[in-house]
Amino acid sequence: MYKILTFLSLSLIFLCGCDRSESVAQKPLAADSKIRAEANLVTSNTIIQADDSGWLSHGRTYSEQRHSPLQAINTKNVADLGLLWSYDLGTSRGIEATPIVHNGMMYVTSTWNIVHALDARTGKQIWQFDPVVDKEQAGKACCDAVNRGVAIWGDAVFTATIDGRLISLDAKTGAKNWDINTIDKTYPYTITGAPRIVKGKVLIGNGGAELGVRGYISAYDVENGNQLWRFYTVPGNPADGFENATMEMAAKTWTGKYWAAGGGGTAWDSMAYDPKLDLLYVGVGNGTPWNHAIRSPDGGDNLFLSSIVALRPDTGEYVWHYQTTPAESWDYTATQHMILADLKIDGVMRNVIMQAPKNGFFYVLDRATGEFISAKNFVPVTWATHIDETTGRPVETPEARFVGKAPNMQLPGPLGAHNWHPMSYSPDTGLVYIPAQEAPHAFVHQEDYKNTNGFWNTGTEFGDLPNDKATIKALKSMLKGRLLAWDPIAQKAAWTVEHQGPWNGGVLSTSGGLVFQGTADAHFGAYDALTGEQKWRFYTQTGVVAAPITYELDGEQFVAIASGWGGSYVLSSAGVFPTGSQANVGRVLVFKLGAKNALPPLLVDNFETPEPPKMLEVSDETLAKGARAFANNCLVCHGALAYSSGLIPNLRYSAITSSKQAWKAVVIEGALAQQGMPNFSKRFDAETAEAIRAYVISVANSE
Ligand code: CA
Repeated sequence: MYKILTFLSLSLIFLCGCDRSESVAQKPLAADSKIRAEANLVTSNTIIQADDSGWLSHGRTYSEQRHSPLQAINTKNVADLGLLWSYDLGTSRGIEATPIVHNGMMYVTSTWNIVHALDARTGKQIWQFDPVVDKEQAGKACCDAVNRGVAIWGDAVFTATIDGRLISLDAKTGAKNWDINTIDKTYPYTITGAPRIVKGKVLIGNGGAELGVRGYISAYDVENGNQLWRFYTVPGNPADGFENATMEMAAKTWTGKYWAAGGGGTAWDSMAYDPKLDLLYVGVGNGTPWNHAIRSPDGGDNLFLSSIVALRPDTGEYVWHYQTTPAESWDYTATQHMILADLKIDGVMRNVIMQAPKNGFFYVLDRATGEFISAKNFVPVTWATHIDETTGRPVETPEARFVGKAPNMQLPGPLGAHNWHPMSYSPDTGLVYIPAQEAPHAFVHQEDYKNTNGFWNTGTEFGDLPNDKATIKALKSMLKGRLLAWDPIAQKAAWTVEHQGPWNGGVLSTSGGLVFQGTADAHFGAYDALTGEQKWRFYTQTGVVAAPITYELDGEQFVAIASGWGGSYVLSSAGVFPTGSQANVGRVLVFKLGAKNALPPLLVDNFETPEPPKMLEVSDETLAKGARAFANNCLVCHGALAYSSGLIPNLRYSAITSSKQAWKAVVIEGALAQQGMPNFSKRFDAETAEAIRAYVISVANSE
């Protein structure tokens, strides 16, 4: 029987007298392996010294605070902020990149990993580099063909691609220095994250845990791309021998043939580095499959899933770990942004690392040892009542583990209470500014789970949305998004700004007393860092998910953000739950005081909804079979109720949907594999494909 569930792919609050010290502004390192004499070349020293004028590393500094000391733009004058220039990235898919700015140049990535080098003053293109990625790889990416930006070092720019490559380019010309492969192409690895560079080593992980991979992070020599070390985040097959004692230790926390599906634990986004402690911090993702009862049937915590792991950057040697979600079963990754800061807690200065992972708790840990200091839920959470202060482990609710239970709406859902969208920490206010959200999900055990490498392997039933307006309206009311100012010492909210829904942009804070954030409803706003009062707002036409930056050139302060609506929530749900994005034009937008330029006018498309294909005469059983197969295979990209997000072709009105032959050629013969539409023949047969077609046509005719 077809159960109606929701992949609602979907899913509170004062001021402190905190210490204002910058966390890791320590003395320059004595010796990088290749210290550059020229002051304008980027090294560990320049990143540690955190030159105020540029934005040299993904999180601005190794502490990843995403806070700038610039204050020319401040609470008193931000009302005069205006658009100086915009640059069209030539794409209509998600833009998640943080621009990097150095020496008057801005480097930003767009869809399919195209790197754009711009004059940071004018937006004039200096060069563009297209790595010509294998687009078939997008079919193996969980969450849109996105990328979060480049890294710079010396006189080179480094970019990692969706097809698993790491590339070094000449920063001035875009000429390729080297181009290496970082993945085993027989597995569905993809890269969406931005590299970080520490002590001449380019660090990069990858994604793919939904589809069946074994996670790892690797270090490569900046000069030639030679691999220096690799740290696996989960153990492999014991029969093959363990790579090191750490993997042997981790394997004791797994049961069953966990290695068959890869295990997961991909390190797809967050890193931070403390030069004084010489520790590299890596955020680790969920397991393959999600469902712990299937993945590790006789129990076990499954290290290092959903953990923060501290490593030696020179060797990749394990130092400590803290697991946020033991025996992870809900896609509760700990890959979310991590921030290093020094906080006075109970009268003692502590070197802390802070994270607000998907599971809904805000963690403060000692970053030297991994010792648990405190944790509190920053959104409503239903899977656990609290984190036990003695053990540092969550106390789960009886409903949390879903095997053999009726589905109930759980918070957070797989989209998380906070996803990849970066937060910021202001040493001035002592507050962490979090793009928080509520997007619930009903987890249901999949009775007939079978691992299919390269396809979504969650061990859970998704289920499409109920196809009636009243229920959809009720579901939409459960979807929430907010800018949350969180006091990490008191573990409580200072203030909150409610947005129209989830999936809003990353955050920047400045010593101008401001917090900047873009929103799903196509605006870019500035808020008072102490109160949350909105001080300025700009209509971006396109929803914003990326994080803003700021930089100074010729004595003037600029604020920049990349717009472009996309990512996992958008693909799966934004067609049903629209937010206000009027167009989807990937752009870089740069603002300064007194500028008054306007965005190009929107081309209003008088698009009439076409006639859907004629209903197929099929039984209710066939429709139900098609609905289930659609939900478990197609929904994550083509959207709930086949209601397109606009990022990829709309199945409801596609000519392919109206032709049985064309549908078969695409769905189970791979005719569009090169465009990123996978060949599903390993997953289901022609009859099921046709049942999916009947379901899509039925929902297209339901309007
Ligand atoms: Ca995941």
